[in-house]
Amino acid sequence: MESFWHHQSPGNFEVLRGPLIVDVLVIGAGYTGCWLAYWLRDSGLRVAVIDGQTPGYGASGRNGGLLLQGPAQLLSELSQVLGLDNARDIFRWTRRTFDWVQRLADQYDFDYRVTGSLYVGGDSTERDSVEKTVDLMKEVSIPARVVPRVEQPLSIQRLGYDLGAWFPDDGMMHPVKLMRALLAEAQAGGVRVYHKSRALSMEEDPHGARVVGSGFAINAERVVIATNAYTGEWLAPLKPFIQPVRGQVLATEPLPAIDHVYPVYADHGFNYWHQRPDGRLIVGGFRHLALDEEVGTDLVLHQPIQARLHQLAADLAGRPVTVTDRWAGTMAMTPDHRPLWGHWRGPIWIAVGYNGHGGTVAPVAARMVRDNLIDGTPVFAPYDVARIGKTGE
Ligand SMILES: Cc1cc2nc3c(=O)[nH]c(=O)nc-3n(C[C@H](O)[C@H](O)[C@H](O)COP(=O)(O)OP(=O)(O)OC[C@H]3O[C@@H](n4cnc5c(N)ncnc54)[C@H](O)[C@@H]3O)c2cc1C
Repeated sequence: MESFWHHQSPGNFEVLRGPLIVDVLVIGAGYTGCWLAYWLRDSGLRVAVIDGQTPGYGASGRNGGLLLQGPAQLLSELSQVLGLDNARDIFRWTRRTFDWVQRLADQYDFDYRVTGSLYVGGDSTERDSVEKTVDLMKEVSIPARVVPRVEQPLSIQRLGYDLGAWFPDDGMMHPVKLMRALLAEAQAGGVRVYHKSRALSMEEDPHGARVVGSGFAINAERVVIATNAYTGEWLAPLKPFIQPVRGQVLATEPLPAIDHVYPVYADHGFNYWHQRPDGRLIVGGFRHLALDEEVGTDLVLHQPIQARLHQLAADLAGRPVTVTDRWAGTMAMTPDHRPLWGHWRGPIWIAVGYNGHGGTVAPVAARMVRDNLIDGTPVFAPYDVARIGKTGE
């Protein structure tokens, strides 16, 4: 099952056959693997990236295309868990993504638009979080403002959200075109990218690790695991730490402009939508209607949820709409809702588990893993994979 984004090819790649020796092997070519390839392109190291399917096959080619600062939680929620200083730091890091993306967008067209985004909440707990978030963002000098219901566009007012928060620096993009740009840059810098080359097993040895797939074997001094929700399927020791969870999305036919073009994130972040420059509405969410069913890596449509998404698209457009693409995608959740990144053990680094929000988090994860791998720069401590121990030893 393909997404609307998959109508675009992520580039030209070979299938890996036979033996390969590299300094760094990145396993998985979603946002994380593609950003790693990009960051490592000028490292002077021999770098290869392999994907079991094709770059963008996973969550990165099946998401909503929203580029929102911060991890999945609002700043007020995150600061309760990590403390304000840590929460501010990770927000600032993810905001650096906007410059990184802009630099690429100056060279490549991936429909990047800085539009601002609106977060809307419907119940009293969310009202509290929204207000506190805006206050905290002002405190740490990040632009944000409260948007009361009367100031929301009419199509959103009709949905009945009590309060909103406006974040002017957020935006949207075409995820597969973005990955295509990252990989084009990486390949031009000498990084070798292979598709349809699935890692089946990995053994550590005195020189690094040996990764074997069907038809190939790679000896790598260092390996980065970027297989996200799929990690537990091929690396059993990590299975308890990464839960695959499914989300549903659709795209409509191109429509006349609705009354807002920016991304909207609603209902504790479960629902989201935006109108693309070509007029299509991308609408995703309602996972909370079937939390027990929407688990695992099988890419299947959940018909009742798809029906709700279709209704939401029609409500936003104020008219019946034709859906052209429906898809499911798998994201990775962790037990403590924090990503896992950094040096895991021996020759192995990891960057997975963004808990449903990777557009700006994956580039930071990739950047920190790259720096740690090259010169030992510490990664963001609250997300350091060290907290799970060197399981399986
Ligand atoms: C439905 C949905 C909507 C979302 N919406 C948004 C959004 O709008 N904005 C946002 O910021 N985030 C969103 N997210 C989250 C975001 O998409 C993810 O956090 C991000 O894409 C994760 O990137 P990744 O590279 O870590 O993983 P993935 O994109 O899942 O990449 C993992 C890759 O590893 C490959 N792989 C797996 N096993 C192997 C193996 N054994 N050998 C080799 N390769 C392997 C897969 O083929 C895949 O390409 C959404 C996620 C979903 C599922």
